[in-house]
Amino acid sequence: MSVTARGEPCEGSALRRAAARLWHARRIRRLVQALLGADAVVIVNELPCTQAACPGPATQITILGFDMSRRVLLIHRPTSEVAAADLSQLLR
Ligand SMILES: [Zn+2]
Repeated sequence: MSVTARGEPCEGSALRRAAARLWHARRIRRLVQALLGADAVVIVNELPCTQAACPGPATQITILGFDMSRRVLLIHRPTSEVAAADLSQLLR
């Protein structure tokens, strides 16, 4: 097993990163639901961005309404950097 500079096993930090991504995905989902009212299913994913000019992972937010509407938002930042202000701007 390889070890990071701080002497932590990589396996552990990968697990922590996965836990952090999950935590931020839930945080974003709650923010979107609060902005929309609860009547929507919100799915949050962190994806590698397909745009060549974009360095990092992107946050994809899929909003499914009970009227069968489907909206997909893409924010060119990882989930950990998506703020409430970004979401209120997009959903206004
Ligand atoms: Zn991007």
